[in-house]
Amino acid sequence: MHPSLSFKHCPSCGTPRTPTLEKAIRCSRCDYLFYLNPALSAAGLILNQRGEMLFIVRGKAPSAGKLALVGGFVDFEETPEQALSREIVEEVGASIEEINYFAAFPNSYQYGGIVYPVIDLFFTARLHPDSAASIKDRAEVAALEWMNPLDVDSDSLAFPSMRQVLSKWQQSKRHPIS
Ligand SMILES: [Zn+2]
Repeated sequence: MHPSLSFKHCPSCGTPRTPTLEKAIRCSRCDYLFYLNPALSAAGLILNQRGEMLFIVRGKAPSAGKLALVGGFVDFEETPEQALSREIVEEVGASIEEINYFAAFPNSYQYGGIVYPVIDLFFTARLHPDSAASIKDRAEVAALEWMNPLDVDSDSLAFPSMRQVLSKWQQSKRHPIS
């Protein structure tokens, strides 16, 4: 269910409303207006010194048991790069460097009965040479895998946006722009 369909009352004055699929929650009685914008997430195409890419097996819904890139939602007052660095520490205890924007794709994230519209921002990054990755959050991360990124079937990833970005990255390596 889209977030706009879950508001059966005005969040400000409590007037009952008929939920409709809209970009904003708008109250005809008190003029309350709340825009429903996509959330931002940041995820990493993270390479180690052997050129392997970091993947996790998701530990929880949505898509538990499927392969994913490490990342998470951007908090208030945080840059996407800060969010990515924080998530890498929280989930796999590693530090990263050379964080560079690569691509963005729209996604939707189903959780708690709501489907959140999301823009997934993807960054390339390197594992810091003095850092190692290990599972820190067993609820989020069921397993951790360093894989040859050109061998990974993008269809095995959890979300369409991750499939799209891995395909794009693989194409950029196989057919570099000269
Ligand atoms: Zn109202």
